[in-house]
Parts: sequence; C-alpha cells; structure tokens
Amino acid sequence: MFNAVRSPNVPTSLAAKQKYDGNDVYTELCEIFFDKCYICETKEPHDINVEHFHPHKGDVNKKFDWNNLYLACSRCNNIKLAEFDDILDCCDHTADVFRAIKHVPPITPYAKTVNLVSMRFDAKVELSRQLLERVYNSDHTINKKVSGAFLRRKVFDQYNLLLDQINSYYNPVSTDSEKEISLERMQKLIHRSAPYSAFIRWCILDDAELGELLSDFMD
Ligand SMILES: [Zn+2]
Repeated sequence: MFNAVRSPNVPTSLAAKQKYDGNDVYTELCEIFFDKCYICETKEPHDINVEHFHPHKGDVNKKFDWNNLYLACSRCNNIKLAEFDDILDCCDHTADVFRAIKHVPPITPYAKTVNLVSMRFDAKVELSRQLLERVYNSDHTINKKVSGAFLRRKVFDQYNLLLDQINSYYNPVSTDSEKEISLERMQKLIHRSAPYSAFIRWCILDDAELGELLSDFMD
C-alpha cells in the first residue's frame, strides 16, 4: 500500500448521482493513484474498478461520495468485498500506510508467500495486513493460487530491479558518479507512483546506509 493525496475537486459527474464511475471520476482517480490498484500496487492492471472504500449498501450518499471512491484491480476488489471495510485509508495522511505494515518481497521468482508484518498494534492495521495476506498469499481457489503466483512474480521482478541498483551502489569498484546514478534509480523505484513501492521501500528502510540517504523520498 502507498500514501495517496486525494484532490479536493469533486468530479462534476457525481453531482447528478446517477453514475459513480464516469470518465471524469476514473481519470481523476488514475491521477491520484498513479494508475495503480491502491491495495496490491499493480500498475495499469488488465482490469480495474472504481471501488467503494466503505460499501454503500444502497446508501446514495456513500455511493456518490467522492471521498469513498478508490481505484482497485478486480482481483483485490473481489478479495476485499464487505469483509474488509475498515482498513487503513491510504488517502488519510496520518495513516502512513506503508510504514504501518512491513512488506517483505519474495527473494525468488516462484516464492510461495511474501511476508507482511503489522508494525503498529491497532485493529485497522491488523485487518489491512490480513487483507494483504489474502491478496499476495491466498491459495484457497485455483484462480487465486495462479493469480497470486503471478502477482508475487511481478513483485519479485520489481525487487530484482532494486537488487541491480543495490549491487551497483555497493560494488567496491563503482565510481562516485555510478553510485549517484544508482541512488537516482532507487529514488524512482521507491516513488509512490512505482509498482509495489511498499515492498521496495521496506528493503531500503532496512538498510542502514540507504535508509538514511533516501529517507527524504519516503513520502
Ligand atoms: Zn490489486
């Protein structure tokens, strides 16, 4: 999960209270969430939903409430359903969602699980961790098993990009300018707009030297 900043400008199509997923809503949400699912952080997933953070259950105000609309891939939307309706809100800057849950990436392409650890002890953090556990590790149906393995592979690919830069940075024969380039590339990988940024950020946070050098980029 990553911290997002919601625009205060309410898309005009919501005022009519007839359609909550109009083009203006979708375009604005793509900008806010960097074309990523707000739960699994997959960038430009092959299908995407305008999701109600709190299920509207027929409540018209909740259904067309701009602050209740999020961008989620169909897989996460399906896993979340009504069971996880009180999770951390990535648009609430006080929630600091990526620091609340430690995301440990898979260290091989076909790892069976990723590790997710609650870093604060409150019910929302734990419920969010449980949701992420299902998203990344669930194998209770064949579909979830296959799509979960695919998702972990994509997280691994991103982690591998980071490893290239870490190896380059710590290579004893790297020049100062090469190290500088590696740091710039790591900044790109930990940016909120990058895929699976929470996993990548936690690798950096856990490194004494890089964690300090890149701390200003963990917004
Ligand atoms: Zn997703």
